[in-house]
Amino acid sequence: MNKEPIDEKENPQPNENENLQLDPWGQGLFSEEDYERLTREFGIELIQDLEISYSMFEKNRFLRRKVIYGHRDFNQIVNAIQHQKPWAVMSGIKPSGHFHLGTLTTASEIVEFQKMGGFVYYSIADIESFVDNGMPYKQSFEYAVDNLADVLTLGLDPKKAYIWLQSREPRVKEMPFRAGRYVTSNMMRAIYGERDFALYLAALVQVGDIFMPQLRDTVMPTVVPVGIDQDPHLRLVRDLTKHFKRSEINPKTGQEEEVPFFKPSATYHKLLPGLDDIHKKMSKSRPNSYFNLGDEPKSIKKKIMGAYTGGRKNKEEQEKLGGIPENCMVYKLLEIHFQKDDSKLQDRYQRCRSGMLCGKCKKEAVQIILDHIQDHNERKKEYIELAREILSQGPD
Ligand code: SF4
Repeated sequence: MNKEPIDEKENPQPNENENLQLDPWGQGLFSEEDYERLTREFGIELIQDLEISYSMFEKNRFLRRKVIYGHRDFNQIVNAIQHQKPWAVMSGIKPSGHFHLGTLTTASEIVEFQKMGGFVYYSIADIESFVDNGMPYKQSFEYAVDNLADVLTLGLDPKKAYIWLQSREPRVKEMPFRAGRYVTSNMMRAIYGERDFALYLAALVQVGDIFMPQLRDTVMPTVVPVGIDQDPHLRLVRDLTKHFKRSEINPKTGQEEEVPFFKPSATYHKLLPGLDDIHKKMSKSRPNSYFNLGDEPKSIKKKIMGAYTGGRKNKEEQEKLGGIPENCMVYKLLEIHFQKDDSKLQDRYQRCRSGMLCGKCKKEAVQIILDHIQDHNERKKEYIELAREILSQGPD
């Protein structure tokens, strides 16, 4: 069997003494300095350094607003777009609860990448719900229907997407055996730390998810938009890519030949901190740190009105110096999710900098956010049956 040491280029080992760990199964939070270190130490590149014309970013509000800050090999996607070649966007969700502010980010990102021309591959990670949360498939299926209805409401076009449940997709279920031939426990420990073996296996199932565009259809560039904490999965799959190829007909010669897989690309967004404290992560133990889209409007309003802001310590200072929208959770909510109109967002930024009081700003934000959520939840009802139908189909 072909066992190889970890590829240090794909998996640079950070200075352990300084203890900067990425945990895809935890809820991390990083400071601006940490983000800089992550790019330096894990080899993530900055999106701002890519030479891309604005028109390419225009359709994707996460790129346009720089919510996505880092990438690996995004040039492959840029090339595919420029040369009108097929490319894919792959993502997924662990169906273990209702949509909240964190899960909303990745789901919205795939819709934006689909608008840029990517074919979507979307995994419902019910094996991971079982492994990580002990949730039986019957229960996670109901969350899967609910979550997929949310994604369809956000604008995912199911005709330009392949959606699967991990537990019913043989191509991903056999991946721990295919990829496992090239993986040692040392390698998994180096990437993920000491974990239950089932989590290592779930990570190998996820390798199958990320390769799905190339396993199912053809070799092509694939971008995986993720929060920075998911980077270990990307490092694993990129390290394993060299072992994967498929037979394709060469259009020039008409002959069948073995073609290597593209190394999956990634984009990274920063993790959304807790609503109640920008210095702490969202956590179920602090109910004011997050909300779900299905929560009562009264409760959402209360959380927004109590949110951490970039306001000054009193009215006089706020009017004199202006607020700091970059440090404000209310502004972040609008920027990332709820204010779709760029000019209105820009206007709020300017009004904040010019001394608008936070109380007034929050009241306006509550209205915008609640209107948005109410509209979303109304439209979502129409997608429940379609979501159930899609998930009831077997793999193709
Ligand atoms: S005015 Fe609005 S955007 Fe500015 S710091 Fe206050 S709440 Fe945040």
